[in-house]
Amino acid sequence: MKYALRIVVTGIVQGVGFRPFIHRIALSNRLYGYVKNVGGSEVEIWIEGAYENYSKFIRDLYSKKPPPAVIDEVEIYFEEPRGYTTFNILKSEKGRLKYSMIPPDLGICEYCLKEILDPSDRRYRYAFNSCAWCGPRYSMMYSVPYDRENTSMRKYKLCSKCFHEYTNINDIRRYHAQGISCPKDGPKLWITDSRGEVIDTKDPIKKAAKLIDEGYILAIKGLGGYHIAALASNDDIVLKLRERKKRPTKPFAVMALDIGIARKLVFIDEKARILLESPQKPIVLLKKKHDTPVSRYVSPGLSHEGVFLPYTGLHYLLLMETHDKFLIMTSGNRHGKPMCIDEKCAYNELGSIVDYFLVHDREIVNRVDDSVIRFTCGKPVLLRRGRGYAPIWIKIPFKLSNKYIAFGSDLQTAAAIGFDDKIVLTQYIGDVDDFDVLDDMDKYVRFLADNYGVGLDEAILVVDKHPHYSSRRLAEAYAEKYGNRIIEVQHHVAHILSTAIDHGVYGRIIGIAIDGVGYGDDGAIWGGEVIEIDMYNGSYRRLGHLEYQPLVGDRSIYYPIRFFLSVLSKKIDHEELMDLVKRYKLHKRVEGGLREIEILLRSIERGVYVNTSSTGRLLDGVSAFLGVSSYRSYEGEPAIKLEAFSINGSYLHDYLDPRITVKDGKHIVKTTDLYMELIDLVSSCKKEDLAVTFQYNIGKVLGEIAYHGIRGRRNIIDKVFIGGGAAVNNYIVSGVTDLLKQHDIEVILPTRIPANDGGISLGQIIYAELTQICDP
Ligand SMILES: [Zn+2]
Ligand SMILES: [Zn+2]
Repeated sequence: MKYALRIVVTGIVQGVGFRPFIHRIALSNRLYGYVKNVGGSEVEIWIEGAYENYSKFIRDLYSKKPPPAVIDEVEIYFEEPRGYTTFNILKSEKGRLKYSMIPPDLGICEYCLKEILDPSDRRYRYAFNSCAWCGPRYSMMYSVPYDRENTSMRKYKLCSKCFHEYTNINDIRRYHAQGISCPKDGPKLWITDSRGEVIDTKDPIKKAAKLIDEGYILAIKGLGGYHIAALASNDDIVLKLRERKKRPTKPFAVMALDIGIARKLVFIDEKARILLESPQKPIVLLKKKHDTPVSRYVSPGLSHEGVFLPYTGLHYLLLMETHDKFLIMTSGNRHGKPMCIDEKCAYNELGSIVDYFLVHDREIVNRVDDSVIRFTCGKPVLLRRGRGYAPIWIKIPFKLSNKYIAFGSDLQTAAAIGFDDKIVLTQYIGDVDDFDVLDDMDKYVRFLADNYGVGLDEAILVVDKHPHYSSRRLAEAYAEKYGNRIIEVQHHVAHILSTAIDHGVYGRIIGIAIDGVGYGDDGAIWGGEVIEIDMYNGSYRRLGHLEYQPLVGDRSIYYPIRFFLSVLSKKIDHEELMDLVKRYKLHKRVEGGLREIEILLRSIERGVYVNTSSTGRLLDGVSAFLGVSSYRSYEGEPAIKLEAFSINGSYLHDYLDPRITVKDGKHIVKTTDLYMELIDLVSSCKKEDLAVTFQYNIGKVLGEIAYHGIRGRRNIIDKVFIGGGAAVNNYIVSGVTDLLKQHDIEVILPTRIPANDGGISLGQIIYAELTQICDP
């Protein structure tokens, strides 16, 4: 019997040159039929011809696929042959096409790089070189599908040579590649001073590199926004940039020309190398070398440097021309504002920070920040999901009964939309307590909703339970206009659900939230939680948490020694505590000195505080007491520095072992005792050892409570799901993991989304859906 094959391939198969590739391998195996896009992340292939060529075709499908393509599933159907005599790429049928996935931006591929370094190539030194396997995608898209006329490349008409490549099926990388261009027809570069006056130069990239080498600070228009570039090797320049940017200590990322240069700065193992060189080209946090040429002011007080490789021809050529071959490349924004994507913003916001601008005329349509990844217990975890990763959708193991828009939280957050069996997170948005950033959230929510057919008037809106979040105000504005329903979700329930659904898990689960701030059901600030969630009906139960501690005002977040003393005030009377403050000179760690501490203690005596079980606050307090970091200038700083400080510490057995008490059926971790013990130990133990032990034991005790919830039960999944801003802390996660390993329970961190609030909107939609199922 004669038969044809219909093959459905699912994965990242659109916007990566996949259909031309299929066309090619069909012809080389003398097979006929067609290839076309059928869903957002699927292509359908029909082949018929000599049977012996079918298996060769399937082999080629895997072994010769374009580098950025990812094949998740291949389904093969046997069909009646139709007598095709040619092979064609069919246009997607508008009506049948469900949703076309918005492809993420891809870093420059090795072949495009080779071309711009080859003096005999017509694209020699061409900053915007790209092909079907690389280049901007989402950042330049006005709408789906990814066709040239829907991108900001549409204004550049292909020259005859480019057109020939575009229409030549044997041109592996440029046939039907939507974003291609050349020096003749593509975007142009120029350089200006800080007021926008054009500087006359033949080679803007060379000139920019020279200016940087001379110590000037430049704004550089890149792929998803503006960067600020400056020498990373010169203390004075780094400090000048810090002063101009009003950013005293928050680390800057460093871009290195290639892996060889990067190895001079940081330790790079095989896992890290693969990440750095992947098409996503993220910033990866890696341990600094002792003899690194990078100024210590680039990431003060930290053990790790954020390093990444050039992801456009522009970046590569620029770095190549500099003396150092590595530079600070930090987001071009003013403190708390979104990164600039256009010239108006750049000259207004960055004019006072930089000396010169390197600009091009391709419009950046969608802002995408650089993605950031770190390793926790040897596994890569996202800290910021931007370029290269967003907005890839996340397929969930069931079909949503409604359409949803989730608004995330307020800091370092991202929103999401949900439809069918898909949830699409926006790229990293930032801190929406700033109005311009909130505006950006609105823009990208609308962009996704529009392109994926989620009507703003039909979607259910999902918000964090916190009554004062700005993200909630945005949702309320939508509801006022479109009349939507709003569902509230407890912060840590959303975190845990995010992790579970990222791994495709559905069932009765237990999770641990290791976090800074999340509004609790009782009005307290939660953040060290063990929660059981029944995904069959959306109900949940708090199994245990860190002991409630008094937090007096926002000042205690910025000056965490205040929190440390607030905790001690529960056990030590006023006078004795003031003696202790003087003995350790702790009043030096607040602005107002002894007087401020007097006022603090009086506030607590009068009951003027909120209760918190936050892990972040607890770690910050330790960081301040041990003298590691006593002022927070960016989110998480004291806790992040405590982790960095611990790198030379060892675990102390039998010290700082937290007690658990049970109250109203909940396990409470007695953290006051831990702080008391720290005071006893601080003069006799190495501070690094205390830091290690404290963090590890917090993880251990949370793991213990989770184990208690799972032990002896059959109706619960025997894995523990972790989420929250501090859920990437090596010592805490090791503590949880080691404890649970003894009982053969696996600990799960998210992989496709950040564990922090950048991933929370995923869990928010899941929670809303679970409550919909049982609430008709
Ligand atoms: Zn390429
Ligand atoms: Zn051309």
